[in-house]
Amino acid sequence: MTLKSVQNHSRADWHAAADRLQGRLQTGHFIDGETTDALDGGRFETVNPATGQVLAEVAAGNGRDIDRAVEAAERAFRSGCWSRMAPRQRMKVLYRFADLVEKNGEELAILDSLDMGKPISDMISVDIPLVAETIRFMAECIDKVEGAVTNTRADHLGLVLREPLGVVGAITPWNYPQLMASWKFAPALAAGNTLVLKPAEQSPLSAVRLAQLFMEAGGPAGVFNVVNGLGEEAGKALALHMNVRKVSFTGSTAVGKLMLQYAGQSNMKHVGLECGGKSPQIFLADLPDMGAAVTAAYGGIYENMGEVCNAGSRLFVERAIYDEFLERFEAEGRNAYRPGDPLDPDTSMGPLVTKADQERVLAMVKAGCDEGARLVFGGDAPQALEPGAYVNPTLLADVRNDMSVARQEIFGPVASVIPFDTVDEALTMANDTDYGLAASVWSRDIDRALRLVRGIEAGMVYVNGYDLGDFTQPFGGWKQSGNTRDKCLDSYKSYTQTKACWVQLSE
Ligand code: NAD
Repeated sequence: MTLKSVQNHSRADWHAAADRLQGRLQTGHFIDGETTDALDGGRFETVNPATGQVLAEVAAGNGRDIDRAVEAAERAFRSGCWSRMAPRQRMKVLYRFADLVEKNGEELAILDSLDMGKPISDMISVDIPLVAETIRFMAECIDKVEGAVTNTRADHLGLVLREPLGVVGAITPWNYPQLMASWKFAPALAAGNTLVLKPAEQSPLSAVRLAQLFMEAGGPAGVFNVVNGLGEEAGKALALHMNVRKVSFTGSTAVGKLMLQYAGQSNMKHVGLECGGKSPQIFLADLPDMGAAVTAAYGGIYENMGEVCNAGSRLFVERAIYDEFLERFEAEGRNAYRPGDPLDPDTSMGPLVTKADQERVLAMVKAGCDEGARLVFGGDAPQALEPGAYVNPTLLADVRNDMSVARQEIFGPVASVIPFDTVDEALTMANDTDYGLAASVWSRDIDRALRLVRGIEAGMVYVNGYDLGDFTQPFGGWKQSGNTRDKCLDSYKSYTQTKACWVQLSE
């Protein structure tokens, strides 16, 4: 069913649709246009974190499966069936692909919701529409991004050609399974590359469906391949592969660093990294609207269960408004997100992705309290939702920037509020982190706000808002948050390489 027609689905409708899907789940790889099992027959379980029940056993790929997929992608690339397809024809395929994503919105939404616990309302209002938009934006780039004729000497003609890289390996996380994948496959495919996607093992069920829809849209076999499997097996083999020209990775900083090593150990492939964050929001006493600020504070950390790379996890609040800010956060934020069944359209907070993540996040909150943070609310699991991997929205006050909760990425619904006295102090603390993904500044004084924007070490800075953005601006981080940019023209270009062509003109 289409995205439009499911807007008024009830909880019962979603459960009925999920039941209908059960028997039809795609659990293999997708190589050269065919679904296939792992060559060595390996399988791993994927679990519904809302219930703890096994959803399916999925093909566990290893180096042999990666070899097969890369060979298929390499063959397809060299054949020119995609890379040399006329630009407007390639655009047409991708537009049809985007239409098919929307047309199959019900199924695609359910797959990720079951697999990683995301509220179905988020899937149909955020993830799936944005996957389609990403594909359309990148398709639009195809005949807009140009090479150049350079101003070289008169007896030469200098051309800069922009060409695809070849086989791209994409390794993706589970927090927005299809959206994060689309930030890679859409620019890679639009630019004429072929692809092997290795989705996260916590959320493997949707990737093969996307590759199938690409083919249904007219994409040639072998262009969009998927190998499921564990990171240390399939992911590592893909990143080490000698015929992969770029590895495009979104995930943790620790694994991002491994990608750089794998590239060095193999063929010096390009490495695009989108990694973790510990993003600050700085609330100055002269902020324009306390209501909007508080809403952005809890929304910025409770949305998607806090499993968001650019979550605003460190909230720096000027001491003059500290008490009022905390009171309003407690009054308005405590019940703003409702943990519950992800397939209930009224649920705004699902479980964390695994039971292990639930335990890890609760332990981090406890460690924060042991180090002196004050628990205002949360820090526990909703008993009624056992055995789901839920964590209640949590607020920690009186946090210091050197505490573990302010230094490590928690990746859960845990807000840490840190008081400050001067703007310089806030800026120093905001930058005192290994990460540099996003930040915000809240102030009525545009001069002070822009001085902070200049001083903040992050790839994205919002003023008097949070998590704003569309495809006109680059998405990505500084420092150990990454080295590339998604969602923009730069992203498309990063899946191309230039070739300088010199023509000697006759006298
Ligand atoms: P992760 O690093 O554990 O896994 C990401 C992917 O890497 C998965 O597909 C996994 O199978 C694979 N992998 C793991 N070990 C590997 C290895 N040794 N070799 C090759 N591949 C390997 O991250 P995660 O837990 O899936 O995702 C959460 C992280 O992603 C957070 O740190 C979050 O901040 C980050 N993230 C960043 C962005 C961004 O745009 N900057 C967006 C979303 C998520």
